[in-house]
Amino acid sequence: MAKDLVVPLAPNVWRIPLVRDLVNGFILRDDDGQVTLVDMGVSSSGPKVVAALGAIGAGPSDVTRLVLTHAHPDHAGGAAHVARETGRGFTIHHDDAAYAMEGSSPPRDRSFLLGRLFDRFSRPGRDFEPLTVEREMVDGEVLPVAGGLRVVHTPGHSPGHVSLLHEESRTLITGDAIFNVMGLRWPVKAFCTDFRMTQRTAHELGELDYDVAAFTHGTELRDRPREAIRRFLSAHRATADG
Ligand SMILES: [Zn+2]
Repeated sequence: MAKDLVVPLAPNVWRIPLVRDLVNGFILRDDDGQVTLVDMGVSSSGPKVVAALGAIGAGPSDVTRLVLTHAHPDHAGGAAHVARETGRGFTIHHDDAAYAMEGSSPPRDRSFLLGRLFDRFSRPGRDFEPLTVEREMVDGEVLPVAGGLRVVHTPGHSPGHVSLLHEESRTLITGDAIFNVMGLRWPVKAFCTDFRMTQRTAHELGELDYDVAAFTHGTELRDRPREAIRRFLSAHRATADG
């Protein structure tokens, strides 16, 4: 039952598998029972996020913060539903805030054919339901979430993309900086605003301290995850000209 709805990562931290293990959200709970949700999947994911609350014995009224790693439809798609259920607005990095409020994705990397095509055929404002942003986060700040959630700005995938480090449980949420789908890999180039910047800023993740690495796409790493991420980063270095 609850097993299918949430995957425990650490005390008071859970992953919510929203499209099997391919698209994930996260729950963090404070000692006083307040709940923070991070990322809400695709447009049909909203009810699954709410059901996941039930699996940890919480409900929509316990949710005090909604956080997005970035403004893409597979992260913000279910967000409007969750906002209606909880009555909360969103925390997102300053550089993605305008996109979240419009319900549009940031531009795609036009140095790749797919990026040019998607850009040409996508209609601004139609990617996901527009959201209310109540707080813009910046690099290095520690959000008052479950003992402290550090914002690590890892732009490239989108201008305001962030990874999040829960220092108390030593859990890293990479966001889309790195995927763990059939092994560690870069996000799809054509869906990045600047793929080479993604490759550069991901190196920040090799410098942090954590015991669990959790991914918005793919399952978590629990066995020396920092070493695995460092190996990936050194084997897949950014190239000067791609
Ligand atoms: Zn994304």
